Amino acid sequence: MRISITCFFSLFLAFACTSNRTRFQGNTKPKPPGFSVAVTLPDSLAGSAFTQAEFDQHILDLKKKIPTSDFSIVVEPPFVVVGDEPAEVVKQRAEDTIKWAVKKLKQDYFPKDPADILDIWLFKDAASYEKHARLIFNDKPTTPYGYYSRGHKALIMNISTGGGTLVHEIVHPFIEANFPDCPSWLNEGLGSLYEQCGEQDGHIHGFVNWRLPGLQQAIKAGTVPSFEFLTSLDSRGFYNDDRGVNYAQSRYLCYYLQERGLLVKFYQQFHALQKTDPTGYKSLLSVLGNPNMDRFKKEWEKYVLGLGEEFRLRTAN
Ligand SMILES: [Zn+2]
Repeated sequence: MRISITCFFSLFLAFACTSNRTRFQGNTKPKPPGFSVAVTLPDSLAGSAFTQAEFDQHILDLKKKIPTSDFSIVVEPPFVVVGDEPAEVVKQRAEDTIKWAVKKLKQDYFPKDPADILDIWLFKDAASYEKHARLIFNDKPTTPYGYYSRGHKALIMNISTGGGTLVHEIVHPFIEANFPDCPSWLNEGLGSLYEQCGEQDGHIHGFVNWRLPGLQQAIKAGTVPSFEFLTSLDSRGFYNDDRGVNYAQSRYLCYYLQERGLLVKFYQQFHALQKTDPTGYKSLLSVLGNPNMDRFKKEWEKYVLGLGEEFRLRTAN
């Protein structure tokens, strides 16, 4: 399977929503007569951290926020998916993209589910996305694709832009649950790696994507910082300063590690040693075999510049 796309995670929105949560209660006005929402439950909740009773209560609360009968609900642990495309399409997205991505991400990285049941809102187009982000969450999205809101415990997506953004955003609550002190560079590096992904040898695998040309330009202009600098950035520095290059450099560092068979090893080592290596830089040096990092950066830049043909072939398909 192949998922294609684009995305920007709006950390700003996630934080903004956290501060809104006690003030804004969503669209909870009484429903018109005949209002009903189709609900699809999984065959089994085996392996889920949440019980049937917890999902039942969650769905009751969720229905209060749903504005029209055009929406349907699919329980896909640990998420509840809700969308306003035809019910079969919502079901198919839950199965083909969400269930698949959750299974594959858990297989390689994430033993723990998020602490709460999270909703994934799949709005059918830009108009629905913008309207409902405002109506249900009191949000004004800063991205046309979708975002994860920690405050609303929800992924809020314009699904007409493709499933890749959705996989990107699914990474964030799993990082939060499994690696709460994960620095932004790796959180976004992994998220954006999988915004264009498929399956190889039974594992999730990121492919080259639209972030490549901008990074290649930055490499040619000599504006890509050292990996020591990138990994040392705090959230403010990562999201504010040259954000596009930070995302792309992180993504293609993860991509490079993946292609060398080192990405999962790096993640696990960094996770285990985070107390003494909070940025991940020491673990990066270690999995790379302690190279001279100036020389490594030059090699990595040459490697990234050489990915142009693969990008051309992939986007031509
Ligand atoms: Zn993101």
